[in-house]
Amino acid sequence: MRGIVFDIDDTLYCRQDMLVKAAETVLGVKVDDWHEFITIFYEKSDINMAALESGEISTHDINGWRYNETFRLLGLPFKPDDGGLAADAYLELQSHMFLSEDMKNALDRFASDPDTKLAILTAGESKHQWNKVVMLGLDKWFDRSNVIVTGDVGISKPDVRLCRMIEEKLNLTPDELWMIGDNYDKDITGAIDSGWHSVWINRRGLPSRGKAPDIEVSTDAELTEVLLKGLPGD
Ligand SMILES: [Mg+2]
Repeated sequence: MRGIVFDIDDTLYCRQDMLVKAAETVLGVKVDDWHEFITIFYEKSDINMAALESGEISTHDINGWRYNETFRLLGLPFKPDDGGLAADAYLELQSHMFLSEDMKNALDRFASDPDTKLAILTAGESKHQWNKVVMLGLDKWFDRSNVIVTGDVGISKPDVRLCRMIEEKLNLTPDELWMIGDNYDKDITGAIDSGWHSVWINRRGLPSRGKAPDIEVSTDAELTEVLLKGLPGD
């Protein structure tokens, strides 16, 4: 028996394209350095995460602030309201989010395997993350009782207590578990510190700042190839 635990954003679906597209729509410019835009936006996303999880700040407000900070640091021409408008545009794009066919096939395969249990560990505001579960149709593959949203439990990634909660839910030991995620510091560190296996989706080619994951991929295509081929031990 083994368990496979997925992060949602930029893991089950690709969120980065929508973030940049929303900015381009509002500013009416083309973002030349897509990598740099995402790097700055995500650095800003690590700030105020606790306030977001506790519901003190809304996802929309924090995204507006992240956008304006990113515009400012990139030297893009913007007005104070543009961050909020980009956050609106991003929410609109998110209402059309979808899983790739390859990802659906991989999940079908895991869900029909009696020796595999599936779970989700996602960070963010409760309502916002549960909306994604619905919009992406994740109920088809994941039992809701095996979905942990950090905003619901008051613990932030990469706290190992989150991994211990999943072990208990799935009734599995650390060496039977795999974490699949895109954020080294949040997803992979927590998994490694908990004695889990891990697959890191490293789209931006960042150096790992600690122990290496079991598997590292750089694109969605590589990720689904690894999942469809089967994780070691299949
Ligand atoms: Mg993520």
